[in-house]
Amino acid sequence: MAVPLPVVVIAGRPNVGKSTLFNRLAGRRYALVADVAGVTRDHKEKEIEIFGRPVRLMDTAGLEESAPETLYGRMRSSSESALSKADLVLFCVDVKAGITPVDRHFAIWLRKMGKPVLLVANKAEGRSGAAEAMESFSLGLGEPVAVSAEHGEGITDLMQEILAHLPPEADMAAEEEDQDKPLKLAIVGRPNAGKSTLLNQLLGQERMLTGPEPGLTRDSVAVFLYDGTGLVELVDTAGLRKKARIEDALEKMSTSATIESLKMAEVVALVIDATLGLEEQDLQIARLIEREGRCCVLVLNKWDAIEDREGVRKKILNRAEISLTQMRGLPMIAFSALTGAGVKKFLPAVRKAYEIWNKRIPTGELNRWFDEMLAQHTPPLIEGKRLKLRYITQVKARPPTFVVFGTRAEQLPEDYKRYLVNGLRHSFHMPGTPIRLQVRGTK
Ligand code: GDP
Ligand code: GDP
Repeated sequence: MAVPLPVVVIAGRPNVGKSTLFNRLAGRRYALVADVAGVTRDHKEKEIEIFGRPVRLMDTAGLEESAPETLYGRMRSSSESALSKADLVLFCVDVKAGITPVDRHFAIWLRKMGKPVLLVANKAEGRSGAAEAMESFSLGLGEPVAVSAEHGEGITDLMQEILAHLPPEADMAAEEEDQDKPLKLAIVGRPNAGKSTLLNQLLGQERMLTGPEPGLTRDSVAVFLYDGTGLVELVDTAGLRKKARIEDALEKMSTSATIESLKMAEVVALVIDATLGLEEQDLQIARLIEREGRCCVLVLNKWDAIEDREGVRKKILNRAEISLTQMRGLPMIAFSALTGAGVKKFLPAVRKAYEIWNKRIPTGELNRWFDEMLAQHTPPLIEGKRLKLRYITQVKARPPTFVVFGTRAEQLPEDYKRYLVNGLRHSFHMPGTPIRLQVRGTK
């Protein structure tokens, strides 16, 4: 579950602008920047997001101070440990000063290390910048990305290149699935939908593993259930239990309380009273769930009181499809919390939704799909020019989040984005979960 963050290390000889670049990407003045070469600084580390994908950014500025011998030797020995952790190295050069022998030594050594390297030609501000950056081609580290860390030029392009050079999240996640961590489930819905009854029904079953934990008050007793795959933790049950005791029929739905529960949860069970159908208030809660990026299971409760089950199910399904287009395919289960009939389907449905929400699609597969989608339905002309979409990548899961890159992609119309989102949902079997799609224009 906890995916290790990719490590991006900024390296290069002193004074090329590593700290400045670090600050620019980290969005804050973290390190002290000085005009004097080799001013000692602690190496800085910060968790940042590159278009929504979390990475750990490290700055090696100042590391070159710690060892003796030649400048090159010093840099090498002290940067080595930082670089050994890197998933991507941003090798920084100074185009104003030009490429120096130290840069060349460092470049050769980096190539030998075999780490993915992105060449950053810094101090390339203004018109002449891009031309000056070309000199660094000769380092044999591929095409330089021209930026000005100080003036904030070229940073978006750099971020795109960083994203494109990171190992796919799917690969990083593969070995790290943490089965021991309980899935966090919240039960929400309007008053009288049957939430407390459902909770009691779940607690009444044998697999209940509940008990007071040290340091917790009685009301915040942690409730765990075992669903055959792993533990499910019911979050925010205190309110439900209290309610069950005092039978406060006048309780109003509190949006802020619902949002609080959502934030604590990974999966949200939205319980509705099937005898009333799917009403506007239920839809509002569903939209909150979508907005918070959680996955949802729709529970049609009080199924024992329904006569025309097929008719009611169809009606609710219809309403959901029309009114909750961003959650198309929302998983729905019907049961009676009161009698317990059908409740055994509940936790498996929760688990399934959770797996979809966690889904990671390998970049290769994603782009083969993307090419087909583009071939089937060409992106539209904008002001007489065709939008060229280049590639797509999944930047994170929980919920699945994708970024599409392309020329003028930022102008991509909403209906084309919907076409892509619906396609993702359908082709990669992700019903019900919120899917995020961002677009990034490239030059
Ligand atoms: P480090 O030793 O590699 O960490 O380099 P610093 O970030 O401390 O920067 C060294 C010097 O270069 C400072 O005076 C910065 O203000 C300057 N500098 C950094 N980035 C740029 C840039 O994009 N353009 C110009 N002209 N100067 C820069
Ligand atoms: P909450 O406000 O969402 O926690 O709802 P409660 O669990 O307190 O239930 C409200 C009312 O609906 C109570 O009178 C329950 O007995 C009733 N109820 C709950 N679940 C069911 C069910 O599955 N079938 C029927 N017929 N009644 C139910």
